[in-house]
Amino acid sequence: MSPDRPVLKPALRPFGESIFTPITRMAIAADALNLGQGFPDFDGPPFVIDAAVEAMRAGHNQYAPSHGVPRLRTAIRDAFASRYGVDYDADAEVTVFSGATEALFSTINALVDAGDEIVILEPFYDSYPACVAMAGGRARYVSLDYPDFALDVAALEAAVTRRTKAILLNTPMNPSGKVFTRDELAAIADIACRHDVLVISDEVYEQLTFGDAEHVPIATLPGMRDRTLTISSTGKTFSMTGWKIGWAIGAPPLSAAVRAAHQFVTFCSATPLQHAMAAALERADDYYPRFRADYAARREALLGVLDAAGFEVAPPDGTYFALADITPFGFDDDRAFCEHMIESVGVAAIPPSWFWADRRGGRTLMRFAFCKRVEVLEEAGRRLAGLRDACDPGSRRDR
Ligand code: PMP
Ligand code: GLN
Repeated sequence: MSPDRPVLKPALRPFGESIFTPITRMAIAADALNLGQGFPDFDGPPFVIDAAVEAMRAGHNQYAPSHGVPRLRTAIRDAFASRYGVDYDADAEVTVFSGATEALFSTINALVDAGDEIVILEPFYDSYPACVAMAGGRARYVSLDYPDFALDVAALEAAVTRRTKAILLNTPMNPSGKVFTRDELAAIADIACRHDVLVISDEVYEQLTFGDAEHVPIATLPGMRDRTLTISSTGKTFSMTGWKIGWAIGAPPLSAAVRAAHQFVTFCSATPLQHAMAAALERADDYYPRFRADYAARREALLGVLDAAGFEVAPPDGTYFALADITPFGFDDDRAFCEHMIESVGVAAIPPSWFWADRRGGRTLMRFAFCKRVEVLEEAGRRLAGLRDACDPGSRRDR
């Protein structure tokens, strides 16, 4: 093929490289503390690792059933029923994917045809618009604004058209740290029911809520069980983001649709890791209280560090991210600020404008991850103490 003939299809060209890749690369090159990409700097629980080794030794090393290992599907069903009080059928209504990322890709590709629309609440996790574009669909955005990210119900209603296939929701929400209230979810449910559209609800941070914030799956609201696909995964909850075991829970017609796509995307997910994640979910009731307490301590540590460094922060109700305002440092461009922070004081974060369709909403913000050991967050604090001086116009190289 001639070198000047474009290879990448037009729908994907606007997206470029995911922001996680260049920032992680820069952080490694500068030997910076990486509070950017959201992965824990500690291992998940040893009993889960032991369960994976045992599964491999027991010969669970060939393809799994396409929908997932039955023991894992049952564990997912049981966990949802015991926490949220809604029952699903593990055979017909639970499907295992290679992470929430594949669940989202397969779901969107199963539902969206050329010209169909998906309503995305922004800021959004960066894979959503790319999935819609790859499926040939069109994304319509409803913006939620820093610092409280309250839902504008009228704007959501106005974004739903005759072409809308689904509303894509993320609660607890990356990167805002927002946890949708029951009232907001009821308003979304009301719109979904009246316009007869589906809801895809990404709940990967379901275990990460703080203070009085309560995670409510929208599928548990009246009228929503049969029009919602609830997507989650074990990456965050068990601190094994590299294992990529996720799932979607939904009524039989919805599950049949996502399975139709999934069988041709990965067919199935890593077999021994499915067994290990089944063991994890089966024993998780003893594990969650400690997990949540540890994250509450990490959140406090990060908020203290950012406050001492001079940031104004919107304390997150959920997820393991916090958004901070960078304007006190004299910057109005998040990417430039992030690169300056990496180079001058050796701390990396994520410029969040990549989570807004027009980039404007996040330009003056920075996303810090606190899925890191407290001593690492404290070391970040020592480094960030020098940030004000490093941002002094006289000492900045970029001005
Ligand atoms: N959704 C959101 C909101 C996320 O933050 C992430 C984190 N990577 C994912 C989906 C993807 O999850 P997984 O690692 O299970 O693919
Ligand atoms: N979900 C993680 C985050 O938001 C990272 C995912 C990724 O690297 N694509 O930081």
